[in-house]
Amino acid sequence: MEAWVGADPLLGRIVVSADQIAARVEDLGRQITKDFLDRPPLLVGVLKGAFVFLADLARAIDLPLELDFMAVASYGTATKTSGVVRIVKDLDLDLTGRHVIVVEDIVDSGLTLSYLRKSLLARNPESLAICSLLLKTGQQRTNFDVDYVGFEIEPEFVVGYGLDLAERYRNLPDLRIYLGEEPE
Ligand code: 5GP
Repeated sequence: MEAWVGADPLLGRIVVSADQIAARVEDLGRQITKDFLDRPPLLVGVLKGAFVFLADLARAIDLPLELDFMAVASYGTATKTSGVVRIVKDLDLDLTGRHVIVVEDIVDSGLTLSYLRKSLLARNPESLAICSLLLKTGQQRTNFDVDYVGFEIEPEFVVGYGLDLAERYRNLPDLRIYLGEEPE
């Protein structure tokens, strides 16, 4: 384990290990490769949390895909989403006629994704699928399906593998429970 991880009292147990993530990302990549064989997709990464997952997932998909990014900011507190989302960085590509897969880090209430989904559907993609590394069980307040899910986890606050707490911990290789107070 990295020395700084062991020395940080706010980092709790591993929820999903780097090895488990790597194996699951390979599975997801194989599945997406199979599903999109005849229609190579455009992966839309939602910054910043999805950057590590997106980098690994893109390399696990054996297709000539395209990549683009968007960044959203949620009105509300740092850890509780209000559902009102502002697009901070928009896509470069036009979605018309493309097969889009939105790549997210985590779906909690689902409100962020619900907003994003509506906004992207309005741009006339040929199809729109959603892939999230994590899904918190029993938290969703929306009724659309997440097409590809890496892991279902208990509703606890996690950091690592791209997910942060106030911009820290994104470079942790495992997903861990954050034991400190979640900032308002
Ligand atoms: P939702 O709109 O689904 O309630 O919230 C989604 C967003 O909240 C995620 O994209 C992420 O930014 C943040 N979030 C929700 N749960 C967690 C968590 O356990 N850890 C971290 N780091 N962010 C979270």
